[in-house]
Amino acid sequence: MDTDNLTPLYIHPIVQELSRIFADAGKKLYLVGGTVRDALLGRFHEDLDFATDAKPDETIQIVKPWADNLWLVGIKFGTVGLSKGHLKIEITTLRSEVYVDKTRRPRVAFDTDIYFDLSRRDFTVNAMAVELPQGRLIDPFNGQADLTNRLLRTPVTPEQSFIDDPLRMMRAIRFVSTMGMHLSPEVEEAISVYKGELARVSSERIRDEFSKMLTGAEPAKSLRLLVHTGLSDLFVPELMNLKITQDPEYHHKDVFEHTLTVVERVEPDLVLRLAALFHDIGKPETKEIIEGKVTFYNHDSIGASITRRRLRTLKYPKAIIEDVTKLIYLHMRVYTYRMGWTDRAVRKYIRDAGTLRDKLNALIRADCTTKNPRKMRQSLQVFDELEERIIRLEEAEEAAKIRPPINGHEVMEYLGIGPGPLVGEALHLLLDAKLEGEIETKEDAYALLDKWAKEKGLR
Ligand code: ATP
Ligand code: MG
Repeated sequence: MDTDNLTPLYIHPIVQELSRIFADAGKKLYLVGGTVRDALLGRFHEDLDFATDAKPDETIQIVKPWADNLWLVGIKFGTVGLSKGHLKIEITTLRSEVYVDKTRRPRVAFDTDIYFDLSRRDFTVNAMAVELPQGRLIDPFNGQADLTNRLLRTPVTPEQSFIDDPLRMMRAIRFVSTMGMHLSPEVEEAISVYKGELARVSSERIRDEFSKMLTGAEPAKSLRLLVHTGLSDLFVPELMNLKITQDPEYHHKDVFEHTLTVVERVEPDLVLRLAALFHDIGKPETKEIIEGKVTFYNHDSIGASITRRRLRTLKYPKAIIEDVTKLIYLHMRVYTYRMGWTDRAVRKYIRDAGTLRDKLNALIRADCTTKNPRKMRQSLQVFDELEERIIRLEEAEEAAKIRPPINGHEVMEYLGIGPGPLVGEALHLLLDAKLEGEIETKEDAYALLDKWAKEKGLR
């Protein structure tokens, strides 16, 4: 891990300007957290996080003349938000909790402030600061080495850390997916032991970490950890049931492992990833042995309602819940296509899938994880056929919608002629011109009709 990577960050003109105005005000300023971590990795963090010894109202006075916009939603946690150019900036007052040591003398020396602040952060890789304006790295917990090893450790003991804020257990598992980290054995153990504490955390905070985890690069690893530690029981208990449900279709793999494959096969779009995660959630409840065969009748509709309930509890926005449950509800319909569909059935499919058709298509293809090459070929052929048929049907309907701007009556009235082949000829000419984009309005049509009538000697 190269500290040279920090250079582009702290010589950034915006960072330099901000550090100058804080220095002028006699205040300290540090870059902290994810911003420093990502810079060390050679990535630019979306927004810039700073810490300062200025009190929140002092920070407001310092940045007010400089910022494009200020927002103060986080002010009770000591955070002043602002924008400057394209950048979103958050400046948080160093946690100045004055704690009393054994001698009962309060420790407030400044330099311990940034250390204290860093010690209260979630993981060592997030507990580094860059002192401005010099750009010196402050790394009291060896975060740099842990970052090199992609190792998640807590600055204090994991027990203390997770009891202080149980959301950190979610964050730990999220970083596995989004940053390719792995948990130290102590962190993993502590999650198994203290998972129950997550009950104290709001659904919204859990949801946001869960969404980031799902849309990360390696969601399967995170999901396995959630189930393995039992943390998932606190907010998606259904996942554990997938783990114990076998499906002979997947060659004795459990439904959970199949689900993970599907999740990683769809692109990192929240709706698709949620739909992939929950698509077979109805299987444990619907499993039945009929004439010696394992079946899961209605697992699509049962799964859709289980999912709706779960996503509501997690406070996902209504639009997301609707899209995800619709995808799950529809994910098996394509399999009835083998028996042949009427045009009406195809139209119903088009209408039911609506704007989600591409996502539904992606989901059903990802869901096809059979190891049997013949079955795989058959399924892919069915999907292709249906897609082709949809396209043909839509083209035909599009074409049927195109009419000349004036009808037969108007043609007859305008030319002063009665019904006969000439009317058909005129309409044909107008339709061709419309399809070619040569005419659009009624006026265009009458002008073309004039020209045509002259050529025909009708005028
Ligand atoms: P992301 O890439 O998602 O932005 P991040 O690490 O920057 O990851 P943020 O939520 O933006 O996450 O938080 C910024 C910093 O604040 C973190 O890097 C970490 O130092 C600290 N932090 C955030 N949440 C917590 C928490 N629950 N407990 C302790 N420290 C936290
Ligand atoms: Mg961040």
